[in-house]
Amino acid sequence: MTNRNPDALRKQRFKARLSVQHENSLHSRIKQHLPAAFNERWTRRHWIHAGLFASIGIMVATIIPGFSQPHEGAGYSHASLPLELPALQELQDGQPTSTWQTFQVSAGQTLGAIFNELQLPASVMHRVLENEHARTAFARLRPGTEIAFNIPRDGQLHGLRFNRDAGHRVELNLEGENIAATVTARETTTRTAVATGEIRSSLYASASRAGLPASAISVLTDEIFKYDIDFSKDVQPGDRFNVVYDESWREGERVDGAKVLAATFTTGGKTYTGFRFERNGKAEYFDADGRPLKKSFIRSPIQFARLSSNFGARHHPVLGRMRMHKGVDYAAGTGTPIMAAGDARVQFAGVQRGYGNTVILDHGRGHTTLYAHMSRFGKYRAGQRVNQGEVIGYVGSTGLSTGPHLHYEFRVNGVHRNPLSVTMPPPEPLRGADLAAFQAQVAPAMARIRGMEEVMYAQAQPKPQAPATRSQG
Ligand SMILES: [Zn+2]
Repeated sequence: MTNRNPDALRKQRFKARLSVQHENSLHSRIKQHLPAAFNERWTRRHWIHAGLFASIGIMVATIIPGFSQPHEGAGYSHASLPLELPALQELQDGQPTSTWQTFQVSAGQTLGAIFNELQLPASVMHRVLENEHARTAFARLRPGTEIAFNIPRDGQLHGLRFNRDAGHRVELNLEGENIAATVTARETTTRTAVATGEIRSSLYASASRAGLPASAISVLTDEIFKYDIDFSKDVQPGDRFNVVYDESWREGERVDGAKVLAATFTTGGKTYTGFRFERNGKAEYFDADGRPLKKSFIRSPIQFARLSSNFGARHHPVLGRMRMHKGVDYAAGTGTPIMAAGDARVQFAGVQRGYGNTVILDHGRGHTTLYAHMSRFGKYRAGQRVNQGEVIGYVGSTGLSTGPHLHYEFRVNGVHRNPLSVTMPPPEPLRGADLAAFQAQVAPAMARIRGMEEVMYAQAQPKPQAPATRSQG
């Protein structure tokens, strides 16, 4: 019979198209996701990492305690569809088959095109868009977005399901002229995971094979161990890491994994350890004894710049006479970001005669730093708090200056000191109640890491002698 039910035909066409889209989206998702983690801020460090990662293979395993279902390591969890509308199979009205169909938006596709594809009139789309939830969700339609349509045999749109935002799902039911909306919160669960591994080729490859999200790897390299380990030079095959971290999941998709609770990194025969603890409401990393891993000052407030003039007496290039140079100069291109050398309160941000656009930071305990000749300021104003490493301004040539550079001063109790040689004050260790609370947190995390190491390396490193003869005792 050629006279097939047009509804069945349409449905068949839809399904065929869906499966193709599903395939495509799976592949493109992998492509999108892996670099996406790095697209945000390609600092030079990332480029260095990328080079390092590319040049060096691996041996890693992941054990995630407390997981009911096995974790598909190697970052492939990201390949899963972010939205599996679980109610698809649920019966709406006791019918044996569901009338819900899930549509996945492809690149450049508009809502109009989707409605057209489903042979739904534009008037229905406009009706749907009168609903505020629909307007919110469909304002910017991204490739990969899933929308479920309830189109029973009459070919009319009876309902829609979509995610309004990361945390909410909406179901619209179209009944005559009315649209009824049901909003449900999408459940997010957080669990603590442990990733452990040994570097065979690169930290990134090993860590992601161990299931560690890229964001957590960045916390390791750019935050916890950045003062002690030069990840562009020091890391070698055989180095080991353990990371205890919190990850949040929503319907099978990992949505966050950057909260690293504890980490160890063994390189060059030395094990570095960092534990997260919140002091005064701010997360910091400490060693096992409660001393901050972070130095109170970074040596240079500007990256990859050349020291063009040192501290001390010199012939002033503009004034043309001998004069004490009370700071150091770094030559760098106009617009190069200048970072706060330490946590501070902004004491001054404005114009000073010879210094041009200038920022002075008060770091407490009698320490101040000054940054001059800026082309423009960062977002911080006098009186505001700024964290170490945050951008307070950009290199320029304002004031008495012969070319774009940063003039940087370091004062201790009002006396100018050479920032390159002054002994920086040690950061404040944890004390009292903080220290006690910290120690209570560290013990179980450390036990978890030790347990993991035993499991990992007892299995991973067979003895050179015949293992059968190894005594267990
Ligand atoms: Zn200078």
